[in-house]
Amino acid sequence: MTAVPHAAARREHVLKEAVRQGLLDPDQSPLAAFVDFDGVAATVRALHDAFPGAPELPGVTHTFAAKANCLGPVLRELEHRGMGCEVATAGELARALAAGFPAGRIVFDSPAKTRAELERALSLGVTVNADSFQELERIAALLAVRPSASRIGVRLNCQVGGGSIAAMSTATNTSKFGVPLADPGNRERLLRAFAAYPWLTWVHTHTGSQGCPLDLMARGVAQAVEFAGQVTAAFGESRVEGIDIGGGLPVNFADDEVTPTFADYVGQLRAHAPELFAGRYRVVTEFGRSVLAKNGFMAAYVEYTKSAGGRPIAVTHAGAQVATRTVFSPDAWPLRIEAYGPHGTAKGGRTVRQDIAGPACFAGDLLARDRALPPLAPGDLVVVPDTGAYYFSTPFHYNSLPEPAVHGVRTDAAGRVEFTLVRAAQDPWLLTDRDGVGEPLPAPAGAPAGRAR
Ligand SMILES: *Cc1c(COP(=O)(O)O)cnc(C)c1O
Repeated sequence: MTAVPHAAARREHVLKEAVRQGLLDPDQSPLAAFVDFDGVAATVRALHDAFPGAPELPGVTHTFAAKANCLGPVLRELEHRGMGCEVATAGELARALAAGFPAGRIVFDSPAKTRAELERALSLGVTVNADSFQELERIAALLAVRPSASRIGVRLNCQVGGGSIAAMSTATNTSKFGVPLADPGNRERLLRAFAAYPWLTWVHTHTGSQGCPLDLMARGVAQAVEFAGQVTAAFGESRVEGIDIGGGLPVNFADDEVTPTFADYVGQLRAHAPELFAGRYRVVTEFGRSVLAKNGFMAAYVEYTKSAGGRPIAVTHAGAQVATRTVFSPDAWPLRIEAYGPHGTAKGGRTVRQDIAGPACFAGDLLARDRALPPLAPGDLVVVPDTGAYYFSTPFHYNSLPEPAVHGVRTDAAGRVEFTLVRAAQDPWLLTDRDGVGEPLPAPAGAPAGRAR
C-alpha cells in the first residue's frame, strides 16, 4: 500500500534528465547525488498524518534529526513543511538556526554539551535534553545565574535492550546515552531531581536507530511514559509536560517499499504505551533516516572494469567517501545497486556476479560484493538508492576525495523534472584550503589554469 508509485521508473527518469542536462558527466561530475523534494513532502505528510491530535495528543512536534542530512536546503524544506529540528552538536545547532528553525522548535541532544554550548542553547530558548545527572547540575548552575525560556528534559536510557546493529542500539544496559533507568537508585535520584528542579518538565528517550524492531522502540517509550506517570504520581498532574520519544524508525533497504510506516509505529506505541495517548502529554519525535533515506539516491559512472581471480569488478566513483557505513560495515548496511547505460537507461537481461568498487585507495572500498547485476562497462552508470540520509550528506574526506554535488529534484504536473543545486561539488584542486595552516602551495603542474591556488 505504501510502495512509492513507480519509484524505479522515477529514478530512471531523473537520471536520464540529469545526464541530458549535464549534471552527470564522465569527466566533469562522475558522481552526483539527488534529493527528491516531492518525496520528502509526501513523507512529512505521512508522518504528520500518522500521529493523532487532541484529545489523544494535545500537541505533537515532529523534529528532524539533523545528523541524517544537514544540508541547508534540505533543512529549509523541512522547516517549511512544519517540522522542528533535533541537533546533537554545536555545528548542527548552527545549521538549524541558519535554516530558519525557530529556537522553540529546536531540540538539543548531546551527551557532551559544553558549558558554553548549554549557555548558548539556554539563552536562545532551544529545548535541551540533559543526558546525565552531572549535566542537570550544570544546567541548574546556569539557570541560577540567568533564567531561560528553554524547555528542559532529561534523557532516559530505558535499558530495554539492543537491535541487530550494536552501534545503533542506545538502550542497552551499558549504553553511553541518558540516565540508565533500571540501575539501582536511579529512579529515586531522578525523582529527587524533579523535586529539586521545577524547570525540569520533559522526559526524553531514544531507543536506537536502524536495526531496532518497532516493538523494542515502543517498549522503550513505554518505560519513559511509565516513569512520567511516577513523576506525576509524586508531584501532581502536569508536572511532566511532554515526552520526547526520539526517532529510530528503521528503513527498508531491500526494495522500494516504505516499510515499516510511521502509522505502523504509532500502532505499536498504542499497544505498548497506551498512556502516551491519554491526552496528558505533549509529544516530540526525532526521526531522521525514515524521513530522508528513501528520498535520495547517488549515481556514479563506471570508470573501468576488470577481472581479478575470476571476479568481475566495476570501478566506480562512489565509495567510502559517500557510503562510509556500508564500506566499513557491509553486513549491517547493505545497499541496493542498479545498473544503467551511459544515458541513464536501465540495463536489463542476464546478470553476472561482480564487485562494485569505489575510488578510494584501500581494498575494502566496495559498495557491493559478488552482486548479480547486468554486466557493467566503462561509461555505464550505477545508482545507489535509499541514500538520502547518512550517506552523501555525511561525506568522509579520506584520500582528499571531494564532496559530490547534491541536486534537489522536483517534478511539475506535466512530469517535467526541475533540478536545484543543494550543495555544489567540491573542486579537488581547491581542497588545499583544508590542508592545515600554512602558506598556499604553488599551483600543481597540470592543474586547470586559474583554478588551483
Ligand atoms: C540519531 C538520533 C535520532 C535519529 O535517528 P534515526 O534513526 O535517523 O531516526 C534521533 N534522536 C537521537 C537522540 C539520535 O541520536
